[in-house]
This record gives sequence, C-alpha cells and structure tokens, in this order.
Amino acid sequence: MDDSGIVGAGGQGASEESVMTVGAAVAQFLQQNRNKPFCDRCIGKRLGLKRHQKVRQATMPLESAPSFLSLRGYCFECGAFGKTTMAR
Ligand SMILES: [Zn+2]
Repeated sequence: MDDSGIVGAGGQGASEESVMTVGAAVAQFLQQNRNKPFCDRCIGKRLGLKRHQKVRQATMPLESAPSFLSLRGYCFECGAFGKTTMAR
C-alpha cells in the first residue's frame, strides 16, 4: 500500500487492452480469493489475459509483498503442482 504506480490525470482512453496494471488486477483477484493458491496460468485465465507472461511479471512483485505468499504447491484451480501465489 505504498507506491502503486503513477496514476496520471484521469485518463479514460479507449484502450482495448488497458495496460492499467495487470499487477493491480492480479492483486485484486487474489485478495478476492484469499488463502487459495493459484498458478500463473489460472490467474491469467481468470483475468482473461492472453499472455500469461504478463501474469508472471505481475506476480513477481507480489512475492515480496507482505500480504501475499509465493509458494510451491498445488494450484487451487487446476491442481497442477508448481509455483503459486496467494493472498493471505
Ligand atoms: Zn492453475
């Protein structure tokens, strides 16, 4: 809850793929699904992101955020074992 990026002068452009912040969307999604670990793929799917590379970039800063956990485990959604991220 410190620097959440630069929100400029309210720009409501018609950006189809709003670069807004995938990070913010991911954080919000995880907070709505607290204590459930999700893999990057499922996060991307849930958020309707086509490139899950973006998700990876978005979850990386969360790994060091105190309210998020990054762990190896089973994804709540697909059950795949791997790197997951969750909000606590
Ligand atoms: Zn998954």
